[in-house]
Amino acid sequence: MTDIAALTDALQQSSRVVAFTGAGISTESGIPDFRSPGGIWTRYDPMDFTFDRFIGSAEVRERSWQMRREFFETMPEPNAAHHALARLDAGERMLGVITQNIDGLHQLAGSTNVVEIHGTARDVMCIGTAPQAGTPAGCGFTQTHQWALARVDAGEADPACPHCGGLLKSATISFGQALDPGVMEQCAAMAAQADLMLAIGSSLQVYPAAGIPVEAKQSGARLAIINNEETPLDDLADIVMVGRAGEILTNAIENMASAAS
Ligand code: NAD
Repeated sequence: MTDIAALTDALQQSSRVVAFTGAGISTESGIPDFRSPGGIWTRYDPMDFTFDRFIGSAEVRERSWQMRREFFETMPEPNAAHHALARLDAGERMLGVITQNIDGLHQLAGSTNVVEIHGTARDVMCIGTAPQAGTPAGCGFTQTHQWALARVDAGEADPACPHCGGLLKSATISFGQALDPGVMEQCAAMAAQADLMLAIGSSLQVYPAAGIPVEAKQSGARLAIINNEETPLDDLADIVMVGRAGEILTNAIENMASAAS
């Protein structure tokens, strides 16, 4: 494990920082990752919500709306780690944030260029009357999750698109649903331009997303991994910090601020 001074130095020497974030950056906001005990994923099996099962079963869709309700019940707020990245952004050191998360917390904290590989749970979209995994061709209707959950509360357990009668789904990429090639190209371009890649709160086991920090390293960026357990990419990294993302990032940013004053 590296010490906080090495992370602070790397941040100070960098002007094109890209953060790659996973579920672990949001656990301090109260949103469990897939592995934590007692979280929503112990009551809902994520594999229950594969794209095929979602489009094939009204009962699965009804449960998925209930799961969304739980996801947003506590109205999670950005935590110290999201705020630290937003502070780096304001200091014009960040190229952007690439996130696997669907919670929208980076934007709420104030990060400006956020690429959401798996979409966002804050919106819902029409996926059409006969959707297929690779091409969910909806009519283009989108709305907020609050709008959809209000309809669920009003008695529509599986609300339909008000324009075309198609299925409505949270604007996220489900298991079994293709990633957006345009979004992945955007990630590759950011990784290629980065001089420092921060991989934060990700088990770095889910590909192709976990390939993004590898691409950055291969393009010449330094790689720093901040996670509260080891990852398979630790050997590739220049800096490995094991611990809580909020505390580590806040300390590094405070150190930078003290050095500057
Ligand atoms: P993961 O659950 O596989 O890994 C999360 C990692 O973060 C783990 O290694 C864990 O030890 C670590 N971690 C947990 N709390 C931490 C903390 N406070 N500080 C530092 N590290 C911490 O998550 P993943 O790699 O993102 O992949 C799983 C998939 O789950 C992603 O595709 C993501 O879209 C989805 N997911 C998203 C959310 C969300 O939007 N908040 C929540 C759950 C799952």
